[in-house]
Amino acid sequence: MPELPEVQTVLDGLVSVLDQRVISAVEGYYPGTLIRDPIIGAEPFPARMIQALRRGKYMIVNLDNLHSLIIHLRMTGKLVYDPNPEDIHKHERARIILEGGDVLRFIDPRTFGKISIVKTANLANYMPALGPEPLSDDFDARYLHGSIHSRKAPIKNLLLDQALVAGLGNIYVCELLYRSGIRPDTPGHRISQKQARIMVKHTKDVLAEALSVGGTSISDYRRIDDKTGEFQHFLQVYQKQQCPLGHDLANIRLGGRSSFYCPICQK
Ligand SMILES: [Zn+2]
Repeated sequence: MPELPEVQTVLDGLVSVLDQRVISAVEGYYPGTLIRDPIIGAEPFPARMIQALRRGKYMIVNLDNLHSLIIHLRMTGKLVYDPNPEDIHKHERARIILEGGDVLRFIDPRTFGKISIVKTANLANYMPALGPEPLSDDFDARYLHGSIHSRKAPIKNLLLDQALVAGLGNIYVCELLYRSGIRPDTPGHRISQKQARIMVKHTKDVLAEALSVGGTSISDYRRIDDKTGEFQHFLQVYQKQQCPLGHDLANIRLGGRSSFYCPICQK
């Protein structure tokens, strides 16, 4: 499932293709993939992209006519740029068509992904409550400790809560907890201020490292040119048998997700 580094990498690719270009249409090929804000009256296309940004795992494309696209890849969605499109692919659920005819295919085998077309003024109604961006200064030890110090839930579940911090998912939470030496099932209220500081540092570090190599390609995630990211070569515990020190890893289910950790390195 794409997390912050993967979504940012896709967004960067999308900007390289779409910047200042005119979208002539957005077509949906699967029920529910394309959502259209009911208050939109006339067809909003053609329209020029003037800005694209990421918030958590969401991409927001602002158009020059006060409309926006919200693109959410969810589990298996990917955007693939095709300058010479022909047939609709098997798992192609929607398509962004550019002036001149080249396209961005929205390919999503599991069909949970969405593209919403909304009035820019109405964006907030189509976005969930999201916590601070983990790479921003708002996500610091004081904020993190303050948010979890009265919570009994496992720290891993808390970090996956998008309303607490936006953009983290299973892979990077497993990795940052290993780097921090903290077991994933530690209740939030047992995390000290010092541990919160260590976690914030490792959150920022692991995300920055993953961003620098285009994210992690474990299953469906691909960049916009359909190439893989490279961070899977640097994972230390996610889907591994042993930690880098050679200890056998444990795998527990937390919130329905596999949680890889080292019983020796993580306390
Ligand atoms: Zn270990």
